[in-house]
Amino acid sequence: MKEKRTYADRREYFIKAVAKRRRKIKLMAVDYKGGKCQICGYNRHQSALDLHHINGEKSFGIGQKGYTRSWERVKQELDKCILVCANCHREIEAGITQFPRVIEDRKIK
Ligand SMILES: [Zn+2]
Repeated sequence: MKEKRTYADRREYFIKAVAKRRRKIKLMAVDYKGGKCQICGYNRHQSALDLHHINGEKSFGIGQKGYTRSWERVKQELDKCILVCANCHREIEAGITQFPRVIEDRKIK
């Protein structure tokens, strides 16, 4: 049997595999953080949930390259984040919402 698959086929497969892994880690991350917005409790869809760095670091980028890191590594970063919905996240960034101190201290899960 001659190899009939083209580079394009494999490329597509690779892209899909990475996307699948990212989705899986996003789900694991959301679950790890309690599965809902830690401010308003929103939990209708994980795609509207973001991870926000408590101490203002922005380096992690769990939406991009972060997902290809090992889960252990991701967990270390997750411990420095809160899970918030897109709305609350925008409000935090706009400075009109501050997540309550208790949430930070409680350390959900
Ligand atoms: Zn929210």
